[in-house]
Amino acid sequence: MRREQIFERDEYRCVYCGMVFPADELTIDHVQARVRGGDRSGGNLVTACSACNTAKGHRRVGDYLRDNASARANFFRYAVNLWPRLLRAVREIVGDDATGDRK
Ligand SMILES: [Zn+2]
Repeated sequence: MRREQIFERDEYRCVYCGMVFPADELTIDHVQARVRGGDRSGGNLVTACSACNTAKGHRRVGDYLRDNASARANFFRYAVNLWPRLLRAVREIVGDDATGDRK
């Protein structure tokens, strides 16, 4: 998918801070990095603002979310277009008790 399609799908909202930005402040983040076998399909891509993408750096999404409670809450609220298996994989890294799904 093209960048603009991803931004539109995500309503120009960063999945990590939950804020809406103009397109020139947004980036595309690969949930599963390309070097780890992730591709460029919509189910692997989320919208992230430049600041959050910089803060995340080269960490895996799950590792970043584990260390950042607000990003974690926003991610599981807004990254609803990811492939279910990817979301499950992220949840496993984060740990079930940290996803906001209180049992
Ligand atoms: Zn952000």
